[in-house]
Amino acid sequence: MNKLEFVNPWNEEIFGEVAESSVDDVKKAMEAGRAAFNHWQNTSIKNRIEYLAKIRKYFVKNLDELVEGISKNTGKVYTDTLSSEIYPTLDIIKYYEKNLGRILKPRKVKTPAFLIGKESYIEYRPMGVIAVIAPWNYPFQLSVIPIISALAAGNCVIYKGSEVTPYVSVLIEEMFKSAGIPEGVIQVLFGGKEIGEEIINQKPDKVFFTGSVATGKKIAESAARDLIPVELELGGKDPMIVFEDANINRVVQGALWGAFTNCGQVCMSVERLYVQESIYDEFLSNLVFEFDKLNYGSDTYDDIGSMTSKAQIKIVKNHIDDAIKKGAIAITGRKLKEENGFKINPVILTNVNNDMLVMTDETFGPVLPIMKFKTEEEAIRLANDSPYGLNSSIWTKDLNRAKRVVRQLITGGCCINDVIISVANPHLPFGGVKNSGIGRYHSEQGIYTFCNQTSIVVDEGGKNKGINWYPYDKKSYRRLKKLISLLYK
Ligand code: NAD
Repeated sequence: MNKLEFVNPWNEEIFGEVAESSVDDVKKAMEAGRAAFNHWQNTSIKNRIEYLAKIRKYFVKNLDELVEGISKNTGKVYTDTLSSEIYPTLDIIKYYEKNLGRILKPRKVKTPAFLIGKESYIEYRPMGVIAVIAPWNYPFQLSVIPIISALAAGNCVIYKGSEVTPYVSVLIEEMFKSAGIPEGVIQVLFGGKEIGEEIINQKPDKVFFTGSVATGKKIAESAARDLIPVELELGGKDPMIVFEDANINRVVQGALWGAFTNCGQVCMSVERLYVQESIYDEFLSNLVFEFDKLNYGSDTYDDIGSMTSKAQIKIVKNHIDDAIKKGAIAITGRKLKEENGFKINPVILTNVNNDMLVMTDETFGPVLPIMKFKTEEEAIRLANDSPYGLNSSIWTKDLNRAKRVVRQLITGGCCINDVIISVANPHLPFGGVKNSGIGRYHSEQGIYTFCNQTSIVVDEGGKNKGINWYPYDKKSYRRLKKLISLLYK
């Protein structure tokens, strides 16, 4: 039996292992999920909310252990883990505890005159067994939020986290076990690509995938064979646009955090920074001054921790080398205090252009490339000149201008005078456009994405026939025609 090792990116120490799931385990999980769905879909909303509350309380009770465990397998500094893995997940749980009843309540809608005498409503029913496949960069949040959303909607879940961070999947499994959720309702599988593919071969009722564009396309292709619906939450190359009237101190801090939080391994990292020409020099010198103050690479209470995987370091270094070869200037901060583990020095790059990988492909590391722009139109054109469209940010004191620019950006989300953080509001839907994905979750959408919506029309059944039924004749035609001219002229 193959094992997945728990690697600590801080020092490359192996601190445990878990057995990889087999193809047979996937089949069994699907059978168990289908059996459990018979019962789980009919649990009351109140009952499901009680489970959500148990999970929330588990977080609070085991906070330090969770933070320590997640950081140990990802290389995150503790504050990143707490603020980005734990906080938004808790907020979503709390949001669903408060709003699930309202969201899932059958919704009455208007009925047009043509259907006179009838009533209409929408019923939200769970889909069945959902496959949740997650990446390694936020292995906790990006697993737990879709899992609890699918469960809250009344589905069962088969979950596979990333093979890079299997210990986090173990923590997630323990958490759901401790909440006493019935057998088969949430099942955790361990493995990589092959197990992911096998989950889709088992024909789940929906695939919720977070990961790279390349894998997202493969998943969409395999799911299409059986017309399985997919939600794809994919990569990004987020632009940050800084206008000359912005609060420079705030922008500098926002750019550093937006580019380097989680060591730049964020789908919504600032990966392209566009600064208006008139403030460029002042901005850059302030940025470099503050960049030099950042602590990284040696302590879990530093500003920047370690990369999560060795493979990602190779991609990041390739982007930096390619840019420098083509004329970019690299500004490095203080050098790493310790060179062990999966650590890398963060870099600011100037003199960059769109011939460089660092401006076109997702880098997913602590690299901040900066370009100048002259006018608002140019900034919009540069920001939109990307196959990605996940998030974006606009920095200016003129909120009218900011809102005008937002309307012209092709992006799933935007922060004005802030960065990344729109993902942390549970009331806002989250997802990307263009290559950044298909679908939305969080907010009400996070429940509806896991529901079949049944549209229902009710007639009390007293009349012997409907106005549009047989027999057809000239009279019935004229009657309908009259109705049209009455209603729509
Ligand atoms: P990845 O695509 O390599 O892997 C993601 C998951 O898919 C893993 O669990 C992996 O085992 C599984 N997988 C791989 N091939 C598969 C296949 N053929 N069939 C089924 N499952 C398969 O991504 P990653 O490297 O783990 O994560 C980084 C990527 O995720 C980045 O591109 C990042 O931008 C993106 N991401 C997007 C969001 C978002 O919300 N839009 C959030 C975080 C990360």
